[in-house]
Amino acid sequence: MPEAGVKLRVCEGMVEDARKGIVRVLSDVMEELGLKPNDVVAITGKRTTVARVMPAFQEGCPPGNIQMDGILRQNAQVGIGEGITLTRQEWQPARTVILAPVLPGWTLAGEHEIVHLKKHLIGRALVPGDQVTIPQFAGGDEAFTVEGVAPRGAVVITRDTAVRFKGGEDTEGRGRRVTYEDIGGLAKEVQRVREIIELPLKYPQLFHRLGVEAPKGILMYGAPGTGKTLIARAVASETDAHFIHVNGPEIMHKYYGESEARLRQVFDEARKKAPSIIFLDEIDAIAPRRADVHGDVEKRVVAQLLALMDGLESRGNVIVIAATNIPDLVDPALRRPGRFDREIAINVPDQRGRREILQIHTRGMSLAGDVSLDRLAAITHGFVGADLAALCREAGMYALRRGLARFQLGKGSLDDLELRVTMRDFLDALAE
Ligand code: ADP
Repeated sequence: MPEAGVKLRVCEGMVEDARKGIVRVLSDVMEELGLKPNDVVAITGKRTTVARVMPAFQEGCPPGNIQMDGILRQNAQVGIGEGITLTRQEWQPARTVILAPVLPGWTLAGEHEIVHLKKHLIGRALVPGDQVTIPQFAGGDEAFTVEGVAPRGAVVITRDTAVRFKGGEDTEGRGRRVTYEDIGGLAKEVQRVREIIELPLKYPQLFHRLGVEAPKGILMYGAPGTGKTLIARAVASETDAHFIHVNGPEIMHKYYGESEARLRQVFDEARKKAPSIIFLDEIDAIAPRRADVHGDVEKRVVAQLLALMDGLESRGNVIVIAATNIPDLVDPALRRPGRFDREIAINVPDQRGRREILQIHTRGMSLAGDVSLDRLAAITHGFVGADLAALCREAGMYALRRGLARFQLGKGSLDDLELRVTMRDFLDALAE
């Protein structure tokens, strides 16, 4: 344990707290650990889990005790009367949480059920391996195991968290599908990418019959966070192509000594699972101008990539999209015909583009009437898509904190937290 903890004896939780991921301790314990209501705590029994802490009522909780419900007792692997150690816990808002039903045979009824289940999870603190029980839309409870969370460690579910349900219907693919409607301010660019990629991927026989060479490689360039990866993913989803994401620096470092083998593997997989799109992110790390390269390893990796590109048949069913911030850093040999011979600039969005991107990233939020996306677009000059996405997430966090503060004051329950994001939330997030 990194921080000193307090040892406490486990007693039953309050009925109204059941399944909400809340523990209660007396105020002397709160003070000792410097805890405020609704802070996240770690509870260590035979296992460590996390929960939000609330002050206990004197009559419900004997001194030296912690009130926790059966689900949390299971998560901490302790029984009533046994001991746990309570510490304060750092956490981050969850980007993604993957839940798997405990009992087989559970199926997701539809979008509305995801919305319903997620609503019950907002504000909940989790670590991987925890179990959560959620009242079902149609009545009854359903238990899920937290299979994974991102970022790693203890997280709290927010409105912006992507909650994925495994099992059930194929929520994996469908829920996370990136479509062209998720890309803002790049209509012309997307149109070009579609022309170059969709046609050959969808109708390879056409190219074959006409004896026309389908493109094999595209070089997308532009500042980080402008949506290059997003476009590549969207094209793959929309054409039902197999998508392989290759990160340039990772292939050079993580696979050091095996970079060429790894590249061959990727191209192999693409061929076997065709139609495929290989996305080579930060290609300048894999294929810098050879004049700038000193090491033999780097030279061999560039040569391997060139050979793989040349070895691809121009049948259109495997397309390689390379992305870089600075095209001039890329080995010119890669930009010759038959290799990455189409180039598309992905520009920093203008005001209209920013407006579109803001609209996309506020789609799932309930916005207060005073929120003006026009005004936000006007005052975010220089922001790229990733910045705008972060701004919306951050504004959502402000609203969440405000909602939780109200909840602490006893106005309402976690279940019906009313979360509306206001213009003020956006401006506060901007000022950060
Ligand atoms: P790049 O590959 O150019 O570095 P990404 O595509 O990885 O940028 O963008 C990171 C994130 O930023 C995306 O997942 C998305 O949430 C957001 N984003 C970036 N560009 C756009 C855009 N044009 N429209 C909508 N969202 C965007």
